[in-house]
Amino acid sequence: MPELQQPLPDAPDEKVGFAVVGLGAYALNQIIPNLGSTQHAKLTALVSGNAEKARTVGRAYGVMEEHQYSYDDFDRIAEDDSVDVIYIILPNALHREWTERAFAAGKHVLCEKPMAVTAEDCRAMIDAGKRAGKQLMIGYRAQYDPYNLRAIELVRGEEKAIGEPHLVFTEHGRMLKPKEEQRDEWRAVKELAGGGSLYDIGIYSLNGARYLLGEEPVSVTANYREPSEKEVDVEEGVAWTMKFPSGATANCSSSYRVEQAKRIFVQGTEGEVTLDPATDYYVRNLYVKTKEKNTQLIIPQANQFTAMLDEMALAARENRTPKTPGEEGLRDVTIMQAIYRAADSGKEVTL
Ligand code: NAD
Repeated sequence: MPELQQPLPDAPDEKVGFAVVGLGAYALNQIIPNLGSTQHAKLTALVSGNAEKARTVGRAYGVMEEHQYSYDDFDRIAEDDSVDVIYIILPNALHREWTERAFAAGKHVLCEKPMAVTAEDCRAMIDAGKRAGKQLMIGYRAQYDPYNLRAIELVRGEEKAIGEPHLVFTEHGRMLKPKEEQRDEWRAVKELAGGGSLYDIGIYSLNGARYLLGEEPVSVTANYREPSEKEVDVEEGVAWTMKFPSGATANCSSSYRVEQAKRIFVQGTEGEVTLDPATDYYVRNLYVKTKEKNTQLIIPQANQFTAMLDEMALAARENRTPKTPGEEGLRDVTIMQAIYRAADSGKEVTL
């Protein structure tokens, strides 16, 4: 046996079985391919409104027709012993209903971000998990990313690489193309998306500021950046400022009108940590700058997807609270609702 770069995976029959609900862009391009590279998880079932697509995907990944479900016959998944975890990758406004259905079927749930549209929805999802005695995790992949984890250590760890952190600047943006891209059609419709750029990508700015500073904001002010296009009934851009108990401030933004932005800067009394891009699927760049030096840190084989999926698998196997539970999703949704209230009123909102 050579020296192993990572431990051997569990034997296939010992891996935790995942059903994926919604065979859209993220499920098919990122999640399902990465499930095959995990230590503890495997794909065992598919849930889709399109039987032909489910058959094609099932053939490719070895998921037999008896483990393929439509949205209508989903509830019989309760009898499918190959499924331990149900991973919900549907438009945001459907997350609550499907989480409740998955818990009613007696399975653990991994749900995509944003957890739901309102804090009330999030609380109902957490309660459904407690009633079922099952775990609920939110797919905050960046919190499993070795680059983001190293950045947290630099900012908050014993080494205090940048002294006392004081300011976070973070921006997430992309062009929304509802007429060209299928995955953007529902994102332009409030009823399905729940919110606009904030719910979709601004959530990375928000969550990033919270995990890098390691504290919760106490107040927020916000502005909409521009009026939205006619065919888009969600906000396209919002900028907001959060104040934290330590005295640190985070200036955050999200936009559907810029080509690509996924960056986070943390500035402290002795230097700056930069993640740019911070939350890309495949490329992250991490820099630490102090008076003495400017260093780029390279972490080989950093895969946030497998780390996240393995955390869900282990939390299910051990029936323990995962690292990013429903309560973490609830915090972000509560703050995002406060950001909208602050932008609507032009007033500072206390959290
Ligand atoms: P998508 O449009 O590509 O996929 C959505 C899937 O839901 C499609 O298969 C669609 O057919 C299905 N669907 C079921 N009912 C629907 C309905 N009523 N209207 C529209 N579609 C319906 O979207 P996506 O980009 O895969 O996003 C899905 C979820 O995953 C969202 O919550 C999104 O925020 C999240 N996501 C997370 C990340 C991440 O990095 N964590 C990345 C992309 C998407």
